[in-house]
Amino acid sequence: MSRTLTLALSKGRILDETLPLLARCGIEPAEDPEASRKLIIGTNREDVRLLIVRASDVPTYVEHGGADLGVAGRDVLLEHGGEGLYDPVDLGIARCRLMVAGPPDAELNGTRPRVATKFVRLARQHFAAQGRQAEIIKLYGSMELAPLVGMADLIVDLVDTGNTLRANGLAPLEPITEISARLVVNKASGKIHHRRIGALVDDLAAAVAEADHASSGH
Ligand code: AMP
Repeated sequence: MSRTLTLALSKGRILDETLPLLARCGIEPAEDPEASRKLIIGTNREDVRLLIVRASDVPTYVEHGGADLGVAGRDVLLEHGGEGLYDPVDLGIARCRLMVAGPPDAELNGTRPRVATKFVRLARQHFAAQGRQAEIIKLYGSMELAPLVGMADLIVDLVDTGNTLRANGLAPLEPITEISARLVVNKASGKIHHRRIGALVDDLAAAVAEADHASSGH
């Protein structure tokens, strides 16, 4: 038997939206990953297993060969950077936008705004690309809080419905980039297991096309 292929995923939106795509490829987890405390979950295919990791760790596991493949948001991949990964398929899931947000009356072009975010690299790039100075304050979550307590003028965060911003009296101010989750592949695995990984990549791309077709009402 050839070595098992390992796919790294994070719980929550990515897992929820990846499982239906895997099911279309004939891959079903042996137990419910959302309910299980196990970090390695087998599937109905003896040669495929799932690894449950933190969203921001997916690129690291795949780059360092802890997993052959992974599913990660474009936000996480851009923030991670590096050249160690192929990203052959946009899965079109977990869609949202990376945005600058803040109080509705915030001064976007003020001098050197304090910007709270977990996307330090992306925020820095965004402001630098526009020739604007910004003081970036690194947080690990709940960025919405920073302007409310006067610690930051603006935040850079993912926005889907805008409900989280609204609930905290903030507003989306400026789009940075569109986000969706992508399949990533370890470069060495992609070469060594070319045939099997290639087949899985093709199956997933077909599943995405089918899912798009179904959701567009055809
Ligand atoms: P919403 O209230 O629908 O605008 O969602 C915003 C909250 O959900 C923020 O805390 C975001 O960090 C998080 N969020 C929204 N979309 C995504 C996504 N595609 N992936 C990860 N987190 C997301």
